[in-house]
Amino acid sequence: MKIAVIGSNMVDLITYIDQMPKEGETIEAPEFEIGCGGKGANQAVAAAKLGANVMMLTKVGDDLFGQNTINNFKNIGIDTQYVKVINNVSSGVAPIFVDKNSQNRILIIKGANNYLLPQDIIDAKDSLSQCNLIILQLEVPLETVYAAIDFAVTHGIEVILNPAPAIKNLDISYACKCDFFIPNETELEILTNISINSEEAIYKAGKLLLDKGLKNLIITLGHQGSIWMTKDKIHHIDPIKVNAIDTSGAGDAFIGCFASEYIKNHDIIKALNKASAYSAASVTRKGTQRSYLDSIQFNEFLS
Ligand code: ADP
Repeated sequence: MKIAVIGSNMVDLITYIDQMPKEGETIEAPEFEIGCGGKGANQAVAAAKLGANVMMLTKVGDDLFGQNTINNFKNIGIDTQYVKVINNVSSGVAPIFVDKNSQNRILIIKGANNYLLPQDIIDAKDSLSQCNLIILQLEVPLETVYAAIDFAVTHGIEVILNPAPAIKNLDISYACKCDFFIPNETELEILTNISINSEEAIYKAGKLLLDKGLKNLIITLGHQGSIWMTKDKIHHIDPIKVNAIDTSGAGDAFIGCFASEYIKNHDIIKALNKASAYSAASVTRKGTQRSYLDSIQFNEFLS
């Protein structure tokens, strides 16, 4: 069983500051940290840490960050055959400033991620057609996401689409071709134009998408857990109570774990419960990929 993640990678450049510098001011910051991130990479890493066989289709620049990302994938056992280096382009980077109240300001430079094109799906077709599940997000060009969905449909491969970051102009007919569509509350709100301020609003927005032909809609709701909706049923996955200290990358942990569990035996409820526990564990630790447990640590967390 093999999972292909087709999507983004970023290097988080995190500066911890006491206060933001004013215009023209230079101040010393107490701490700096580099972390591997990007929604595609995060989901691939979560699935691979849990033991799934994962290949990553992504692009990096010809800089130190790109090499760092490739090494990180290799260390975790991810197949990097289709992680391509683009010359004269920067890797995807995210300068992040975190102040002493844990408030953050983030810039995203997508860099090489903008160069992941439909042709890359064609170039990887022999390896991709051997995969059982493809995971997609929206941090790479939309035309590439659509090409990947069409490829998966043609080859009978199941697809998870995580419509993140939120965009208004996603063609829902492509979402309907996917087996699982997994937005968070904000993404659901932007896609449906319904403000998600109550359980009724969630159902209304969910129904609106399901009426368009969506198969399985899984909405993640942060500390409130998640909901799986189909045309004929609604299933709540209760949240796991934890002491949350850093929720960044929780949605990606959820998706990576769901994918790695689902491909084992196609048991959706079991995969959702595992994903809920795995993402809850991730919010109890600082960082994004750094907060993801491996399968031994996860079993300890569960016991
Ligand atoms: P995103 O990171 O995309 O905003 P969410 O915040 O919805 O995604 O989180 C994804 C999943 O992570 C949730 O559905 C839930 O299972 C888990 N999770 C997130 N925050 C918490 C929390 N504070 N306590 C327990 N579980 C959480």
